[in-house]
Amino acid sequence: MAEENVETFAFQAEINQLMSLIINTFYSNKEIFLRELISNASDALDKIRHRSLTDKSVLDSNPELYIRVVPDKSNNTLTLIDSGIGMTKTDLIANLGTIAQSGTKAFMEAMTAGADINMIGQFGVGFYSAYLVADRVVVTSKHNDDEQYIWESAAGGSFTVKKDPTGEPLGRGTKIVCFMKEDQLEYLEERRLKDLVKKHSEFINYPISLWTEKTVDREIEDDDDEEEEAKKEGDDDDEPKIEEVEEDKAKKEKKTKTVKEVTHEWAVMNKQKPIWTRKPEDVTRDEYGAFYKALSNDWEDHLAVKHFSVEGQLEFTSILFVPKRAPFDLYEPKKKNAGHIKLYVRRVFIMDNCEDLIPEWLTFVKGVVDSEDLPLNISRETLQQNKILKVIKKNIIKKCIELFMEINENADDFKKFYEQFSKNIKLGIHEDSANRSKLAELLRYHSTKTGADEQTSLKDYIARMPESQKDIYYITGETKKAVESSPFIERCKKRNYEVLFMTDPIDEYCVQQLKEYEGKKLVSVTKEGLKFDETEEEKKAFEELVADFSPLCSLMKEILGDKIEKAVVSERVTESPCCLVTGEYGWSANMERIMRAQALRDSSMSSYMSSKKTMEINPKHSIMKELKAKAAADKGDKTVKDLVHLLFETSLLTSGFSLEEPGTFANRIHRMIKLGLSIEEEDEADALEDLPPLEESGEGGEGSKMEEVD
Ligand code: ADP
Repeated sequence: MAEENVETFAFQAEINQLMSLIINTFYSNKEIFLRELISNASDALDKIRHRSLTDKSVLDSNPELYIRVVPDKSNNTLTLIDSGIGMTKTDLIANLGTIAQSGTKAFMEAMTAGADINMIGQFGVGFYSAYLVADRVVVTSKHNDDEQYIWESAAGGSFTVKKDPTGEPLGRGTKIVCFMKEDQLEYLEERRLKDLVKKHSEFINYPISLWTEKTVDREIEDDDDEEEEAKKEGDDDDEPKIEEVEEDKAKKEKKTKTVKEVTHEWAVMNKQKPIWTRKPEDVTRDEYGAFYKALSNDWEDHLAVKHFSVEGQLEFTSILFVPKRAPFDLYEPKKKNAGHIKLYVRRVFIMDNCEDLIPEWLTFVKGVVDSEDLPLNISRETLQQNKILKVIKKNIIKKCIELFMEINENADDFKKFYEQFSKNIKLGIHEDSANRSKLAELLRYHSTKTGADEQTSLKDYIARMPESQKDIYYITGETKKAVESSPFIERCKKRNYEVLFMTDPIDEYCVQQLKEYEGKKLVSVTKEGLKFDETEEEKKAFEELVADFSPLCSLMKEILGDKIEKAVVSERVTESPCCLVTGEYGWSANMERIMRAQALRDSSMSSYMSSKKTMEINPKHSIMKELKAKAAADKGDKTVKDLVHLLFETSLLTSGFSLEEPGTFANRIHRMIKLGLSIEEEDEADALEDLPPLEESGEGGEGSKMEEVD
């Protein structure tokens, strides 16, 4: 071997950490390494088969597509060989050590948080699981574009790569030799390997063969020459060893002797008939589970499955799965959401993650589609234009929604589903106008009438509506607690109108598109124009109040300037002195909060649009009555000015907005506290004018001025 050309590389830091974690942490569940290596082999085979669809000659280097497993008890090695695409020297260096997959860190975090090693496949770092059972791993690989190379590492921070000019040629593919740890020799047992393949890799689409050993007793004539002939029996791969075992007996009888003959053969361990070609009624739940796990790298069973065929003008078969949990990177912004549907054409694998088969909001659905109509040599580029594919996609969306409706029939399952994927459903409502109303059936919200752990559907909400109620009321905000105590829902509560709590940022986008459900308008209680039916008398009384308070309203606008659009008398609030609302078509407080957070995070968005706010005052509240009197007495009263600011700022908070200047607000409050504690402050003229910080005004005289308020 060309030892002189050995190059040594350091593992990328995170990969190194990952390997240490794999090696040093105690896991009993080490068996998953085999599934991971077989899954990598299967991926490599998919890749070369896909290339061969447009260029048959890529298979010439090794025409058969297989996965082989060879246990060797004399050397304590377990070897996996595949005739997949192989890796060039560059691939070996990049894929097995220097470029960390995005999941590396996420996986370590998950592990530290108590996740099971079993989950490794989901994070795209399965190869390193070989170090659960091996203390040294040697990977030999041959790619069509390069010569054969050997990668080797006993962990410890580094690996080597060298050319392999003299080793047994692979033709094309990858051979992984695991030098098993002393206490992991169980994985060299045929029975164990067969069981593992059955358990985890049953539905791999390529034959997985095990190199098996058989020992048979055999009587042969005691003639040395004939031993040679015996050796030639069996098939090509077979190299029988013959041991003389009963020599004494043989010597006595002279004519014959019994020999133990060890023969080898490849035994295929998996069924490869694609599961989707079977009738749904013949496939067990366990089989679907095993197929799902092989397909998705998930460690637990699916939540729900739909297996169907479409016939007629267009023919395809599909199995769709809803997982129990959202994957770790479902909402990662930079990840291109390609979806998780494998596309086959007449049983031949075409591609993973076919983005033209499923919309973004359904990327959590996993499955396969096998089309009878598409051409075999279809490429990613031509797929986009393909009419057949568009029809398939439409059908898949329809079937997914059917599947969700089925999940909805079981309360427990639906709860799990909604916890994990409600964001996707809401995104679907936002994006898919055709299925919007159907998807709205799946929405669930806490409300002023549900218990702490309960959520209501829109349908149940409507069923509870009193006759006088025309619309569906909702409030958006940051948390359930915040919206529960919001002044906006007071009047609804008084009238026995239920208010839905929408506390997920995406609710804001979703409800903008939804607009109505079963003919009932969705109305935000925080936006201007919330009107309830009222009697003539009520109307008249209200008009009087409006006239009465009009000077105070204009004064407030004068004091607050640009901070508000206007101040108006409102029927909306009944318990608080006032609140802030946004225009019917403007941003709600919640939306402003979301946009503000985005602007702060993303420096390229230098400013965000703040919404135009209307101050609604409660004319029946004692604070407002008193303030009106005070303002009427002296329009220029500094205390009035200060109190108006305070009312505005507290309304910002209770209405769900954020404070622009928390410091100034705190100063005002501190002065109130001093007042409450009767701390005397020195008189200082005009101290209230610009609200100077307390340090500047010293123990300033605001206190005495404030006292006049009451
Ligand atoms: P992944 O989830 O991406 O397979 P792994 O850590 O298991 O993560 O493998 C890293 C990469 O190494 C793979 O993406 C693939 O490019 C390459 N690789 C691993 N095993 C093989 C193999 N048997 N044949 C060809 N390439 C392989």
